[in-house]
Amino acid sequence: MSEALAVLKQGREKSILRGHPWIFSGALKKLSGKTGDTVRVVDSEGNFLAWGACSPDSAIPVKIWSFGNEAEKIDASFFERKLEQAFLYRKTVFNGVLPDAYRLVNAESDGLPGLVADVYNDCCVCQITGAGMDRFRDVIAKLLLKYAPRSVYERSDVESRLRDGLSFRTGLLAGEEPPEFFQFTENGIRFSADPRNGHKTGFYLDQRISRKTVMEAAAGAEDALNCFSYTGGFGLAALAGGAKRVLNIDASADALAIARKNAEANGFTEEQFGTQVADVFQFLRKCRDSRRTFDLIVLDPPKFADTAAQREKAARGYKDINLLAMKLLRPGGKLFTFSCSGAMDGDLFTKVVDSAAADAKCDFRIFARMAQGPDHPVAATFPEGFYLKGIAGVRIS
Ligand code: SAH
Repeated sequence: MSEALAVLKQGREKSILRGHPWIFSGALKKLSGKTGDTVRVVDSEGNFLAWGACSPDSAIPVKIWSFGNEAEKIDASFFERKLEQAFLYRKTVFNGVLPDAYRLVNAESDGLPGLVADVYNDCCVCQITGAGMDRFRDVIAKLLLKYAPRSVYERSDVESRLRDGLSFRTGLLAGEEPPEFFQFTENGIRFSADPRNGHKTGFYLDQRISRKTVMEAAAGAEDALNCFSYTGGFGLAALAGGAKRVLNIDASADALAIARKNAEANGFTEEQFGTQVADVFQFLRKCRDSRRTFDLIVLDPPKFADTAAQREKAARGYKDINLLAMKLLRPGGKLFTFSCSGAMDGDLFTKVVDSAAADAKCDFRIFARMAQGPDHPVAATFPEGFYLKGIAGVRIS
């Protein structure tokens, strides 16, 4: 059987030599190998560059496992080392005190393309997003037990698998079945998350620092509005920080049911923590028409753009909600606005927020910028890993 091989076009090895983990089809002279195979990557002269995972039909046909070391074997001990490094990184950034719930593996930025793994106490929920990693499912499952000895559960119900010819997979991978709900704390607030039916692995762990920022800025807010609430993370942060009331809006009744449960677990009443199933775009318009106003507004929408082609339409969506939200802010009110669209960079998001302020005739002053938390690192060689951007500002007049 001949070895799977990726041969780069002349002069196209530079990004690999700098440690970037993706090879686009335009850089490839030849690719032999089946989806999921480990390929030897060589330059146009046949010199060894890297080992990668092969996915011939995908937009990124090769993702790199290991750079520059021909003797490296992509096997269980390779993955064991990568997980150890990922864990060491978390221990370091959390100064030795790991949170109850954190992301242990953040794909390419932890040198593990195709794997996301979130730890909730002694359980782990992982997503295997590509064919290369899928080959190592059993190896990974066993290794993750070291960090989550009770349970390793799979939530690989992600679109990218379909492009690699894989189907969705969910279910137990190792250990015992996880509980119906994980219970954990974040910034001192109690949360529960549903590993089987929740979004992603159950909770948006990437917003830990932003929720803290909201908590620290919420004192004195009489009326807060949490748009795209999901299970109430930002709403509870606002209450914990001293806001008097918060109204949480989401299209999903199931998410809001968990949000109410979370509020109760923290001792907040229905008067303090309100929920409403609604489309945020329509809800904001209704508030504008009825002149309803707020002291603090959070906008944390889902991804509006997956690709550069969708960027313009996404920008219009972001502008729409930001403009409306600014109109609803009382003077001195604070807006916390986010974009998790990787295809929309920080500069473009800032421009959208600026132009929303101009159109809303709002004197808007930015006091903080936010990003994905430290357990969602961005490898220096992989700027594409930066996706979550946040802006906090005050409406002066
Ligand atoms: N802020 C949340 C995460 C938000 S995820 C947290 O901190 O955990 C995005 C949420 O937006 C999802 O719960 C989804 O149900 C909701 N959503 C998507 N489109 C919506 C719309 N048009 N109107 C209201 N909610 C929407």
